[in-house]
Amino acid sequence: MRALITGGAGFIGSHLAEELLKEGNKVTVVDDLSTGRRENISHLRENSRFCFVQDTIMNKEKMRELIDDCEVIYHLAAAVGVKFIIDYPLKSMEINVRGTEIVLELAGREKKKVLLTSTSEIYGKKEDGLFKEDDDRVLGATTISRWSYSCTKALDEFLALAYHRKRGLPVAIVRLFNTCGPRQTGRYGMVIPRLVKQALSGKPLTVYGDGKQTRSFTYVTDVIKAIVSLTNHPKAVGEIFNLGSEEGISIYGLAEKIKELTHSQSEIVFVPYEKAYENNFEDMRHRVPDISKIRNLIGYSPRVRLDEMLKRIIESKKEAQRHKGTEAQS
Ligand code: UDP
Repeated sequence: MRALITGGAGFIGSHLAEELLKEGNKVTVVDDLSTGRRENISHLRENSRFCFVQDTIMNKEKMRELIDDCEVIYHLAAAVGVKFIIDYPLKSMEINVRGTEIVLELAGREKKKVLLTSTSEIYGKKEDGLFKEDDDRVLGATTISRWSYSCTKALDEFLALAYHRKRGLPVAIVRLFNTCGPRQTGRYGMVIPRLVKQALSGKPLTVYGDGKQTRSFTYVTDVIKAIVSLTNHPKAVGEIFNLGSEEGISIYGLAEKIKELTHSQSEIVFVPYEKAYENNFEDMRHRVPDISKIRNLIGYSPRVRLDEMLKRIIESKKEAQRHKGTEAQS
């Protein structure tokens, strides 16, 4: 199969490219390297079934060519990270709205199969219980930049569902909850790579707010397997699925765990949200998915537990640091 991955030089996209190549597919990655990184895919470039195109998904002519040339599109290109959304609101909205519209419109012409990645931000600041796909959304004011992300991704979902209903586009939607793993960068705010880096370099671990907010983390290999399996499942078409883990932890608890696993002497410090992000910032207190829908369809159950994922991430970070050290010496 010939697959196109938009945003394929990103953290999740590069792992997906690896998996699809392993399965014997041809893979083209299109990425403008705004947040994706060349190093994420450099190990794939020797593979004759792999091709990298450095371009934006907003280049319609290029996208027409790439979409014409593939059978399935994994649409991952999007603005990522709370910090990125706040720092670059216009760019984020443009890529999420205009970019996705281009992908869906072009895919719709020949009814190419699409997997659209959405986000748990869709649920906004809803707090109670496990989040189900058809739950109501709870959003803050438009003066708070964070909520633009939820709105743009919701628009992506509306568009995808409308293309499905009106033009027969075979599209499936996954809402990713906090995904983590090697190659994820803390540059755009993501908590695990940030805390791990801080712990390994002896800097204070920065816990935002009171640290009592909870998240549930899923290891990238579990996410990739589920994405591939959903894309191949005919009953996933026209449907939305949560993709995450039900094992929640407070952010302070996470910082303690990381400190312990890295044997770090770093202290854990609290940083007010307005210092970390912007004035009036609003965070989600709790965010845990109900995963019964995806479990019932493809038998999804996340394999890698939190301690194991942290150990793997710490190891890969240490490995990357050793590699950098060796390079600096040579
Ligand atoms: N967070 C933190 N310290 C950091 C980065 C993030 O305490 O250095 C918090 C953040 O405020 C949020 C949680 O960790 O409550 C998860 O943040 P992330 O940006 O990884 O994902 P989110 O769930 O907010 O999209």
